[in-house]
Amino acid sequence: MKDKSNREIKHIRFSITSKCNYNCIYCDQEGFIPKTSELTVEEITKLCKILAEILNVTRIKFTGGEPLCREEIIQIIKNVADLHLYKDISITTNGFLLFNKAEELYKAGLNRINVSLCSLIPEVYKKIYGSDSLKEVLKGLKKAKEVGFNSIKLNFVVMKGLNDNELESMLEFCSKNGYILQLIELHKVSDSVGGNGEFYEKYHLDLKPIVEDLESKSKKIKIRGSMQNRKVLTLANSAIVETIVPSHEFCMGCTKLRVGCDGNLFGCLYRSDLGKNIKDAIRNHHSLSKYEQIVKQVVDSREPYY
Ligand code: SAM
Repeated sequence: MKDKSNREIKHIRFSITSKCNYNCIYCDQEGFIPKTSELTVEEITKLCKILAEILNVTRIKFTGGEPLCREEIIQIIKNVADLHLYKDISITTNGFLLFNKAEELYKAGLNRINVSLCSLIPEVYKKIYGSDSLKEVLKGLKKAKEVGFNSIKLNFVVMKGLNDNELESMLEFCSKNGYILQLIELHKVSDSVGGNGEFYEKYHLDLKPIVEDLESKSKKIKIRGSMQNRKVLTLANSAIVETIVPSHEFCMGCTKLRVGCDGNLFGCLYRSDLGKNIKDAIRNHHSLSKYEQIVKQVVDSREPYY
């Protein structure tokens, strides 16, 4: 299904809980605040099936809050893997509970993991995440590799004066351990979830010059056309860096549909107000055409933000 800007929906970003065990200073809350209760495991599974069938998508990312705080996370991954409709099932996590859950997640059918890691310095880590748990996260990352995950990305949101001096050490850490570094420009948090204007003014750093510098040192540059036109750089030492820098091209390349933990479907991090809730339709066992109608309305509401 394509939106009015001819952008096809190719993947789903699904928040399965708004609960979180961290208090990150930059958090965008995935652009929405749930208005009603969380979908049950059965409803999540059913919705994943419906979306795969209507949209023909094969990629899904589970997020939160913190997805590992959802008690039934293993069951959710297993149910979705057992649908045999998704080729790529991933999560984005702060990593705090990863050590204990990595093996079960892998066995349940999870394919990939993104871990938020904005600092390798314990004091800075604590300042950013409000949690003194860098050690646990590093243990979790190691464990994830040991149990078999071979695609692990680290989400590094760069913030001026806080962690912008850690790029080199982060690159070294990633190349040493075989992790992919996702270099993320801080974005403003949407007003609909409380905004963070002052914080943004203080810590935002334009990543273009850094990306240009990395590009000049890269032996290969790839554009992920189906993923917000993100650049993937392979550096001379074979380290891989993916860049997430908001821009018009970025929005034009967006192929994502978002699902809130209460069943709200929406098409943009900044426009959850344009969403439509599908929970009642699922609870009342409506027909595929009813679900299709709701999904179509949401897809039609999508427009490039920048
Ligand atoms: N708790 C999980 C985690 O830490 O990955 C999932 C939710 S968190 C909102 C998902 C990702 O959003 C984080 O890894 C971070 O990279 C990104 N993020 C959140 N707020 C952001 C902001 N203001 N600017 C840039 N990226 C942000």
